[in-house]
Amino acid sequence: MGKKNVLLVISLVIFFISSTFCVFVLSNRRLYSVFYRLAHPSYSSCRHCGMPWSNVEGHSTYYTEGRGCFPLCEDCWSSLTIEERLPYYKQLWSSWPIPKPDWNLIEKAVKEGK
Ligand SMILES: [Zn+2]
Repeated sequence: MGKKNVLLVISLVIFFISSTFCVFVLSNRRLYSVFYRLAHPSYSSCRHCGMPWSNVEGHSTYYTEGRGCFPLCEDCWSSLTIEERLPYYKQLWSSWPIPKPDWNLIEKAVKEGK
C-alpha cells in the first residue's frame, strides 16, 4: 500500500468516526441542547432534555387555581409516564425558596395527569 492509500484510509476512518459522532449528538436532544443553552444563557430549561424555554414550550401543570409549574417541555412531558415525570417536579419544587406550596398539591396534580 502506497503512502497516498494510507492517507486515504486514515481520512476515511476519521470521516467515519466524526460523522458517526455528529449523528449521535444530533439525534440526542440532551446532548445538543447544550449548544442551545449556551446561546440562551438567561433562559431556564426543560429538566429532562435541557432545551431552554426560548426554543421549546413548557408543559404547565396547574396544582391550584392560577398556580402552575413547568419542569418539562411538551415533548418530554408526553413521552414520560406519570411516575417518570414526578422526580422532575420534585426537583423543581425542591429548588424553590421557602415559603413554597405544599408538595402534596403538586404530586396530586401530576398523578392526575395534569
Ligand atoms: Zn424536554
